[in-house]
Amino acid sequence: MKCPKDGCEMKEKTEDDIKVDECPECDGVWLDWGELQRATDNRVTEYEVNYRGKSGRNCPRCGNRMRKGDLHSVIVEECECGLFFDKGEIRQITIYS
Ligand SMILES: [Zn+2]
Ligand SMILES: [Zn+2]
Repeated sequence: MKCPKDGCEMKEKTEDDIKVDECPECDGVWLDWGELQRATDNRVTEYEVNYRGKSGRNCPRCGNRMRKGDLHSVIVEECECGLFFDKGEIRQITIYS
């Protein structure tokens, strides 16, 4: 899967049974919604994203234009497939680090 930010090939990584894709270039992280839910013990779901407008980037899974959203005060880029965090942002809402 390619990083939506810079197009680099992302590396799949499994930590505590949670599967994430990490970009070696920008340290961005992609999570499928199911994985995020598991990473947060179901505290965070896709229904909590507040829509903030269109993203300029495309979803690495389906290729559709992603949306910008506010998720627990973190701005993420999301699609129905999952969501993309910039470097370090994922630590603000999940146990994953
Ligand atoms: Zn990247
Ligand atoms: Zn998608």
